[in-house]
Amino acid sequence: MTEREFALDVVRRLAAAGYITYWAGGCVRDELLGLAPADYDVASNARPEQVVKLFRRTVEVGASFGVVEVIGPRREDDTHHKVQVATFRSDGAYLDGRHPESVTYATAEEDASRRDFTINGMFFDPVAEQVMDFVGGQQDLQAKILRAIGDPRARFQEDKLRLMRAVRMSARFGFPIEEATKAAIREMAPQITVVSAERIAEEFRKMLEHPARAGAMAQLREIGLLSPILPEIAKGLTADETTWDRVLRVLESLPTKAEFPLAFAAMIHPVGKKLAGQACRRLKLSNHEQARVEWLAEHHLTLRDAEKMPKSRLYPLLIQPGIRDLIDLHRAMGQSPEFTERILRDTPPETLNPPPLLTGDDLTANGFTPGPMFKKILQATRDAQLDGEITTLEEAMAMAGRM
Ligand code: ATP
Ligand code: MG
Repeated sequence: MTEREFALDVVRRLAAAGYITYWAGGCVRDELLGLAPADYDVASNARPEQVVKLFRRTVEVGASFGVVEVIGPRREDDTHHKVQVATFRSDGAYLDGRHPESVTYATAEEDASRRDFTINGMFFDPVAEQVMDFVGGQQDLQAKILRAIGDPRARFQEDKLRLMRAVRMSARFGFPIEEATKAAIREMAPQITVVSAERIAEEFRKMLEHPARAGAMAQLREIGLLSPILPEIAKGLTADETTWDRVLRVLESLPTKAEFPLAFAAMIHPVGKKLAGQACRRLKLSNHEQARVEWLAEHHLTLRDAEKMPKSRLYPLLIQPGIRDLIDLHRAMGQSPEFTERILRDTPPETLNPPPLLTGDDLTANGFTPGPMFKKILQATRDAQLDGEITTLEEAMAMAGRM
């Protein structure tokens, strides 16, 4: 069974019980575009307690919003099919610029009008195979336009995350933002800061993970959202057009599947490691991701010298976990990584990273006392080993003795 078939079964069962039930939102948009939806969302006039009664396995995921997850049969990968069923609702007043204070159960039409953009606001009845469009979504989909539902200013005032969602959806589908919608975003862009760093980062991550990342960043800047979301680095990136153009070109040249840390590093490489670190902390990235971004920012030029580097410098670089990303970044910056890739391919791991000839234990056993000199000796003998200048413990000890 496919996800689509399961989502159709869920609608059939609710419809058979007499409830008005549709697919809703992103999955309708994707189906009409001929794309495979990431997941199917169902909307119905059935209340959560009524949904729960109709299915064997359910989880109430958003009780306050009237959302029930229906668990279906096992998939091939041992997880289960699941579809979220939401009761048609309208949102109460938005007080904090992000969340409605309350929600009320409502009609399908009202449910459509609380959604963000017309292309995201359609329903589809998969039993009758009929689109239910209360917001002009089909027309905008045809015309390839991203337009807010209702009064754009009011809609962005309610929920400021929509400012970023607009840019993400526009870049993702290559749909320009309609003029009044765009004017409202431009006017309200500075207010994006009322949204939590985590939610801003989540949107930003989705933009950079998508192949249309360069277009998303260009639009983010053009519409005035770049500075408020990344104040530390926006200036440095856009101070002159050459730098910003280069950033966009590097983003365009990344592999389509580039992951977030690589794409983020590619974007911020001109500003240096320190500001890169600040930007990572602002977005509350994990330590692991932050380390990767900083390492890439620090080394974005290093591979240029790969051919001239002694093995004692090159090999430790090649065994870093981020080396594949660094090669991709190097290539996206217009450089040829051929030499580095050849060394990586042709050099066995035990040559790139051999067991050390000399360890701290060897030094203590030979009467050295731990201290700053210790570290220096270990590094020097390691370098000499990688450069092929010494090949035995005896030679390493002799070298230590001379230091
Ligand atoms: P994706 O494929 O990225 O999941 P999507 O359109 O399904 O795209 P979701 O974030 O999963 O996006 O949201 C599902 C639907 O809920 C949207 O299509 C839209 O109708 C509505 N929606 C989501 N977020 C908002 C919001 N902040 N304001 C208004 N409506 C929203
Ligand atoms: Mg979705």
